[in-house]
Amino acid sequence: MPTKRGTRPAIPRKVQSLLWLKAGGRCEFRGCNKILYEDQVTQDPINESNIAHIISWTENGPRGDKVLSPKLATDISNLMLTCPEHNTLIDSGDNLEKYSVSVLQEMKREHEEAIRKLTDLKTELPKRIIELRGMIHGQRPAITFKEEADALFPFFPKSERIVIDVCDYEDIETAKMIIDSQVKRHIINSDGSELYAAFIMALIPLGCYLGYSIGNKIPVQTFQHFHDTEDWIWRDGGGLITASYANSIKPSDNVNLLINISGVIDRKLLSADYPEYSINADVPGFSFLQSWQQVLDFRSIYRNVLDRIRQEHGESVTIHLYPATPNPINFEIGKGIMKNIDPTIILYDKTKNETNYKEAMHLHDRIRGNN
Ligand SMILES: [Zn+2]
Repeated sequence: MPTKRGTRPAIPRKVQSLLWLKAGGRCEFRGCNKILYEDQVTQDPINESNIAHIISWTENGPRGDKVLSPKLATDISNLMLTCPEHNTLIDSGDNLEKYSVSVLQEMKREHEEAIRKLTDLKTELPKRIIELRGMIHGQRPAITFKEEADALFPFFPKSERIVIDVCDYEDIETAKMIIDSQVKRHIINSDGSELYAAFIMALIPLGCYLGYSIGNKIPVQTFQHFHDTEDWIWRDGGGLITASYANSIKPSDNVNLLINISGVIDRKLLSADYPEYSINADVPGFSFLQSWQQVLDFRSIYRNVLDRIRQEHGESVTIHLYPATPNPINFEIGKGIMKNIDPTIILYDKTKNETNYKEAMHLHDRIRGNN
């Protein structure tokens, strides 16, 4: 029986333009993504786009429907931007079951969501990179500019980096002086319009000290290396961080603060038994920290704990801080300190060969002497 094909209704320019924008000028067929506005070889401007109908414009066409075909003939929700090959493929009679209405709708939705996400750039200044490089168990750390740029995407890094290299200084006091002088020269005295991204590759005390030296007024986002994927790209999710407080009856001159994130501090190895506060990952371990959001969570919990210790024990208390923490948290431990009000904080560390925790440094000395 001959069918009356009629003429395909013209798709309004406005609808065509919007479809081009939503598709990012690329074929929406899953896995194709071909650019449709320039020749692949010569890069000359061309237009090889086809506008394919999910439900045909005519009821006898591919996936056509008596009611929906006339209704959706020029409706953007029913149109896909494709390359010529995929236009032919989805409309060929053999494939109509494979490329059903729902399959094609899913392809269109996936593609347009991905384009939207990828083009959702915020106008933000390029970030200035800070690197802290210290010896880690006899190894010099390394990172490439590409790894840093990948971690920052969709934001851009500035090409010149601030590299603070303390690999050649075993003495921690010398390393602290170098950190301070570099921070003073490149960061603290900047005009305030710069945004920073920090890649910390050093032992715990030095990461803490870099945060302390930069201070809590300058915004810095830190990054960490993920061993499984060999990159520095933050992920989503990750476990929860909570605090637990000492049940002290009376104020003490000393308290212990244990931070159990990448592991659990063994209480038997502490240098003294003082009232104990702790900040805890729900499942401590090297893979606990997954997202930047967890770092932000830590930042506010840590601040609450420091305030509470000061309220319960007074400003002249000494906090003995034991960290089992990854680099971004180390940085926050130093950065979160309020230099004008916080009590003295002594940082402990344990290298592989030592049995007990030892004082690594005075991370902060109380400024106000009168009480
Ligand atoms: Zn295609």
